[in-house]
Amino acid sequence: MAIQSRSGARPESRHGDDRNWGRYLSAKAPIPRLLTEAQEAEVRELRDLSTQTRRVTAPGLEEILYQPIPVLDHGFVRVIDYMGDDAAIVQAARVSYGKGTRQLRGDTGLIGYLLRHRHTTPFEMCEIKYHVKLPIFVARQWIRHRTANVNEYSARYSILEKEFYIPAPEHLAAQSPDNRQGRGETLEGAAAERVLELLKSDSDQAYAHYQEMLNERSDGTVIDEGRAGLARELARMNLPLNIYTQWYWKIDLHNLLHFLSLRADPHAQYEIRAYAGVMLETVRRWVPATYHAFESHVLEGAQLSGGGLAVVRRLLAGERVTQEESGLSKREWRELMATLGRSDEDNDT
Ligand SMILES: Cc1cc2nc3c(=O)[nH]c(=O)nc-3n(C[C@H](O)[C@H](O)[C@H](O)COP(=O)(O)OP(=O)(O)OC[C@H]3O[C@@H](n4cnc5c(N)ncnc54)[C@H](O)[C@@H]3O)c2cc1C
Repeated sequence: MAIQSRSGARPESRHGDDRNWGRYLSAKAPIPRLLTEAQEAEVRELRDLSTQTRRVTAPGLEEILYQPIPVLDHGFVRVIDYMGDDAAIVQAARVSYGKGTRQLRGDTGLIGYLLRHRHTTPFEMCEIKYHVKLPIFVARQWIRHRTANVNEYSARYSILEKEFYIPAPEHLAAQSPDNRQGRGETLEGAAAERVLELLKSDSDQAYAHYQEMLNERSDGTVIDEGRAGLARELARMNLPLNIYTQWYWKIDLHNLLHFLSLRADPHAQYEIRAYAGVMLETVRRWVPATYHAFESHVLEGAQLSGGGLAVVRRLLAGERVTQEESGLSKREWRELMATLGRSDEDNDT
């Protein structure tokens, strides 16, 4: 199939829970109050503009260009700019493969082939720029991805807004007993109330002390004319990790897919996964053929070790296999069974 720039229909996906944001994106929906007044005015102005271009555009992404998509309680992701589309990937691949690529099943087939065989540079021909507002503890995980260009809001120069991430009750999970990097049951009743109370009061107190040290309100007006405030670059140091920061983040499609493969994965922390879920949807609107190949080969695919593959071969041959004689550790075995959607009882039959 030859690729046109277009927005595809929303596919069913196990990542659907993280992408319940479509309600904000109908053309007539008011922009939710996520931006400052000046930023909102800028978005309105930019969205009223329309420029003729000879370059390719992605209609699905044009629909939501500049619009903030809410994530968590005060955060958002918005697409600021992009370059290229599915056809640009195909065009780049044809430079290296020439006419031989026409033997593959059209453009969509070629994109799947490139992704499966990790011929990654054609995906680097596409770029996207996001504006993201996120809690600092999420930003610390995010910034580990070194292949993007980042420009962050400066708390040396500006005063941070009083905006703290307070998890929704359903995301107040206890520590997982068997995974030190994971969550267990959701906290309920008095335990949940106490956690929320602590989070809110600590955030309030830290912000009150921040303002007192600055001797300035968030709009820059002085609180007490009779005393000097501490420098902004120092006053910020008592602020907790759940305060929000903002950045512009520009990345090519190959590295974005790598980021999403790690951060949209169920093993990633919920809060960064919420951002990854929204960004997946922007990828679907931008490069639908690549999105579907990525969903099939990466998000919903699996990689097996040599030992894991040997177990699968034995199971397919009708053998009974147990963890003890599989050569896999207990953890590898559990992960393999989860990937195959099997329980130990299935292997007894
Ligand atoms: C579930 C999960 C748990 C994690 N837990 C921890 C933790 O406990 N502690 C911790 O410190 N981190 C942790 N991380 C972060 C993780 O180790 C990586 O640093 C992060 O995911 C970025 O991955 P990356 O280096 O592949 O990405 P990027 O920086 O985006 O790089 C993309 C790719 O570019 C190449 N590359 C980039 N820079 C270099 C370089 N300098 N040299 C060689 N190749 C390079 C590599 O192939 C790399 O995979 C965790 C990540 C996840 C997803």
